[in-house]
Amino acid sequence: MATPGDIRADDLLDAAGLNFFDADPNLAFVVQRLASPGDYARALPHLRAMGALAGGELDRLAREADRHPPVLRACDDRGQRVDEVLYHPAYRAMERIAFEQFGLAAMSHRPGVLGWPTPVPHVVKYALAYFVVQAEFGLMCPVSLTDSTARVIRLFGSAQQRAAYLPRLTATRLDELWQGAQFVTERQSGSDVGASEALAQRDGDLWRVHGQKWFCSNVTADVVLLLARPEGAPPGTRGLAMFVMPKRLPDGARNAYRVERLKDKLGTRDMATGEVVLDGALAEPVGPLDAGFRQMAEMINVSRLSNAMRSAALMRRALLEALECARGRWAFGRRLFDLPLARENLLDLLLDVEGCTALVFHGAALLDRADAGDVEARRLVRIVTPLSKLYVTKRARWTTAEALELRGGNGYIEDCVNPRLVRDSILGSIWEGATNVVALDVGRAIVRNGAGAALLDDLRVRLGRLCDEPTRQAAAWLRPHLETTAPVVAGLPEQDPSAREPILVRLAEQLAHLTIATLLLEEADDLAGASGSHRKLLVAAAYARRWLWRGPRLATHRAAQEWLEALVDWRPIPASAALAVLPPEG
Ligand SMILES: Cc1cc2nc3c(=O)[nH]c(=O)nc-3n(C[C@H](O)[C@H](O)[C@H](O)COP(=O)(O)OP(=O)(O)OC[C@H]3O[C@@H](n4cnc5c(N)ncnc54)[C@H](O)[C@@H]3O)c2cc1C
Repeated sequence: MATPGDIRADDLLDAAGLNFFDADPNLAFVVQRLASPGDYARALPHLRAMGALAGGELDRLAREADRHPPVLRACDDRGQRVDEVLYHPAYRAMERIAFEQFGLAAMSHRPGVLGWPTPVPHVVKYALAYFVVQAEFGLMCPVSLTDSTARVIRLFGSAQQRAAYLPRLTATRLDELWQGAQFVTERQSGSDVGASEALAQRDGDLWRVHGQKWFCSNVTADVVLLLARPEGAPPGTRGLAMFVMPKRLPDGARNAYRVERLKDKLGTRDMATGEVVLDGALAEPVGPLDAGFRQMAEMINVSRLSNAMRSAALMRRALLEALECARGRWAFGRRLFDLPLARENLLDLLLDVEGCTALVFHGAALLDRADAGDVEARRLVRIVTPLSKLYVTKRARWTTAEALELRGGNGYIEDCVNPRLVRDSILGSIWEGATNVVALDVGRAIVRNGAGAALLDDLRVRLGRLCDEPTRQAAAWLRPHLETTAPVVAGLPEQDPSAREPILVRLAEQLAHLTIATLLLEEADDLAGASGSHRKLLVAAAYARRWLWRGPRLATHRAAQEWLEALVDWRPIPASAALAVLPPEG
């Protein structure tokens, strides 16, 4: 263990050089619970390899790429329009790792990636991405866009479109790969997609699209999905069609759209987001002309869940950095780790990370089941997706900022990763729907799809299945909280929208807390059954105390604080310690 004499004042005490997978028993535990034994065994070497990259090469590349954002080269030396974006070599090197070495964008769509006999399950894909994001957030946007473009073409494209695009979108050699993007947002229409003005006019078998798109991430993508209104179609979302627009035409010429400007962004600085003008670009419809918005919603939903996972990963990196710093740095003759208020900070971060990680991987497991045709899982994923997007992305802002503060002044300086984590974390709750808009979607899931009642039923079933006696005691504490929320959910359809809407963010947060507390208890049950340790029960109890108990929050985690080392190092914890953290009734 370090002593004050070992530490120089300028030591960054960061996580550089660690294998992020080996340093994260929680993630291994979560994935092992949710993946089949065969999938977990197959995933293990890849997770370890990705963990090493995330703590090493990827981290160095990400830092470099962040410092050298892409540059737009609109015209060549002769003044001809080329609309090229010049990326730093570090960004290109990261593309090679994500798309080529690990096939992250391809793995959900075909067998063979990383040697899998089937497409790779979402749980495993998310676990790999969880480590990439801890080093590099920006690139995961193009990876996710390419992945979801392939999903949309696979689900809704014609046979000819599937044949033309899928092999390229799922290629794992960079020289064969076509990356994907989705241009939806316009200057006047972000949340209000129905106000889109891009116009599509028939031109023989194809269409020409005119208009502007205001936020186009991965703007250099080869294949773009966009929404536009066919001439004569009705206003609103009903009149929007989905089109696929290639960057290059069959003769190699550029399609008729141009990049006006790259955005100067707070975060994701190494990834190019542009403003695009569509000058009669050739495109062809995907699916029926009146199904554009519905199909795009399918894409947005998988992206929202992935977005939540990425926020959970930022939180995990923030916690890892906070632990490295707190265990190495001294103040007032003690390690930060030993100071009661700093222990409170660390415990809060740990609860956020384990809670949010449980939620997003639960979403991934539901998505796997839903994709396999499980109707109940589809109904649950309908609500777990917006809940995760709303809750986890917002929580990431707080967690990354707290971790920055725990590092003191050094945390504010770009020498360390913390400022980038904070900058990147802010985006999660804006793109693919800002918090209010996602809360409205939670409302729709409850009112139109009955997904709120389905979620509560599912939580009741999960609590009823627990076996370990101390964990069942904690479940008995949780149940009344579930039942006091149930009437609010049941009464929502009767309410007038003006009465319903203001409560939706709070209701979504409450549902997220109930879901997380239940999932943590399930994890606790499994851990206790497998090893006799009640470490997870302590996490679940502390989480419930923090987020669901309405009693005073002074010294919330004193009992839990005593076990901080054991929590961090995953050492056994007795049931009595966990139950001591469980709040009194009410
Ligand atoms: C870095 C970055 C990259 C992006 N990449 C892409 C991309 O690749 N493709 C793409 O299509 N878009 C992209 N976007 C756009 C993004 O999805 C939108 O910014 C987002 O959906 C919000 O839309 P808006 O900016 O028009 O805000 P607005 O719709 O103007 O919303 C402003 C505020 O109003 C609130 N609000 C809106 N409606 C309601 C309501 N009914 N009730 C209460 N509050 C409401 C919102 O919550 C928000 O806080 C990107 C954005 C960023 C920042």
